[in-house]
Amino acid sequence: MRFEDQRAKLVKELAKSGIRDEKVLRAFTLTPREDFVLPEYQSYAYQNRPLPIAMEQTISQPLMIAIMMQLLELNSDDIILEIGTGSGYQTALLATIVKEVCTVERIEPLSLGAQKAIKNKGYKNVHFRIGDGAQGWEKAYPPYKEFSKIIVSAGAASIPQRLEEQLAEGGLMVIPVGITKLQELNKISKRNGEIIREHSGACSFVPLITDQD
Ligand code: SAH
Repeated sequence: MRFEDQRAKLVKELAKSGIRDEKVLRAFTLTPREDFVLPEYQSYAYQNRPLPIAMEQTISQPLMIAIMMQLLELNSDDIILEIGTGSGYQTALLATIVKEVCTVERIEPLSLGAQKAIKNKGYKNVHFRIGDGAQGWEKAYPPYKEFSKIIVSAGAASIPQRLEEQLAEGGLMVIPVGITKLQELNKISKRNGEIIREHSGACSFVPLITDQD
């Protein structure tokens, strides 16, 4: 089957699994996952599962990304902070919906690989930083102080305080929390300066590695 047809099939699977947000489904239709996986895994690109990428990390499972994106209620005004660029696949999905994506990755070769893939596709609304995402968006361009949405793609021992601070009033953050292989997906909102935390099911991500705790 051609990649295009495999992609259409994946989008149908996502819809059947409860993804109703048309913007999210459209982003998956527009984004070629085969361009973000290692060449030896290209034929598995449209299986709905995580796959290994370089440096012992993984490209997230499409359904998990879709669930997180749907929880974030994304729109074209959003400026989103993404922690854990990895392959850049999720970065590209986000960039098709929101105004700007600011993405942080601690492993330099991964960030550089993602930068190349994203630039090749012509996206102009993505900004990259190499460093510890638990510190949020720091010493980076554009000098944003807060974000309407935050998405964390690695399991955190606890919610980094800096990320709570950089979440704008009325904003939403999704973050896997837990130190074991199985984590709890948390949806965080900020209302009147107060942090509200909801549990949104189990998930499994590589760990968020930070000295901040
Ligand atoms: N959404 C990505 C997922 C990558 S896996 C994709 O679909 O490809 C999670 C990524 O988080 C890994 O690349 C890992 O290196 C990165 N990571 C872990 N701890 C981090 C931290 N403190 N700051 C930034 N990135 C981190």
